[in-house]
Amino acid sequence: MTKLADSYHRPINYLRISVTDRCNLRCIYCMPPEGIPLMAHDDILRYEEIALVARAAAELGITKVRLTGGEPLVRAGLTDLVAMLAKIKGIDDISMTTNGVLLERYAVALKEAGLQRVNVSLDSLRSKRFQKITRAAKLDDVLRGIEAAKKAGLKPVKVNMVVIRGTNDEEVPYFALLSISDGWHVRFIEFMPFVEQGKKQSRLLVPVSEIMQRVEALGKLEPSPPNGVGPAKYYRFPGVNGTIGFISPVTDCFCEGCNRLRLTADGKLRPCLFSDEEIDLRRPLRQGATVEDMKRLIQLAVSAKPEKHKLVAGVTCERFMSQIGG
Ligand code: SAM
Repeated sequence: MTKLADSYHRPINYLRISVTDRCNLRCIYCMPPEGIPLMAHDDILRYEEIALVARAAAELGITKVRLTGGEPLVRAGLTDLVAMLAKIKGIDDISMTTNGVLLERYAVALKEAGLQRVNVSLDSLRSKRFQKITRAAKLDDVLRGIEAAKKAGLKPVKVNMVVIRGTNDEEVPYFALLSISDGWHVRFIEFMPFVEQGKKQSRLLVPVSEIMQRVEALGKLEPSPPNGVGPAKYYRFPGVNGTIGFISPVTDCFCEGCNRLRLTADGKLRPCLFSDEEIDLRRPLRQGATVEDMKRLIQLAVSAKPEKHKLVAGVTCERFMSQIGG
């Protein structure tokens, strides 16, 4: 097995797979209320096609796979895909990012199929506000999903909060306190401006430096493992199990440590979340491409990875997060 590296000598070992652009929520920062034009069903990769791409990626050195969307749990039979991925030699870490609404129903089956851990997106602990942000979901469903995931042995369960000025930022201390009282692994994420509204939305950004100050008003944090892997910097309050991660895609991009590729639900391989460059895998897949053909296309995508994303310069991408896979 060769190890994959891009033109800037970054090792690439992580593939994020969007399994659908559909979502059961309409979060205010992610989608307009009416939703977005959906991909045609035929354009979405079948599980067998995803598995073939994953096999090629694993043969090149990808070891970690994350399922995302849209909302991955709205796609029928997702556990079948997890089981297919779990059988691929070389893939030793399978995780998922979910809004948690359907997690209670699927947690045990996902674990049995080979899913190892989940990240749950949760932007408010207040029922009414949560409903307003998501334009749909019930907070209790998500909280029950988190508990079910823990009980099923999906470890660790990380809770991701996108901090939005004037919307939920006053809840930062309450989320942080859950790392003490309930051993939660909480991650605060900077709001990222998307699509053409980018400029207007930047006033909603709360920089990680400010989020951290608000957390440290509760007590001093100490660095915590697992540091050095992924975009989050982890801390904890002394003597507790729960951790607090800070993710700053806007104010302190983590491009130099970027180890990932993204496969969209319609079969495009994106070297960078914020670059609209994509390599089409679906057409070759449907024309009978082999694992070796896929490996060549994956290597092409890796060599096209830009050194840095352009978000800081105010440039946003043309697709919504739910269309790319966040
Ligand atoms: N439906 C799943 C979920 O809710 O986790 C997976 C897809 S969602 C697009 C993935 C993540 O992207 C979520 O944590 C969401 O909060 C985050 N996200 C979407 N738009 C964002 C934005 N403008 N800024 C920061 N995070 C964003």
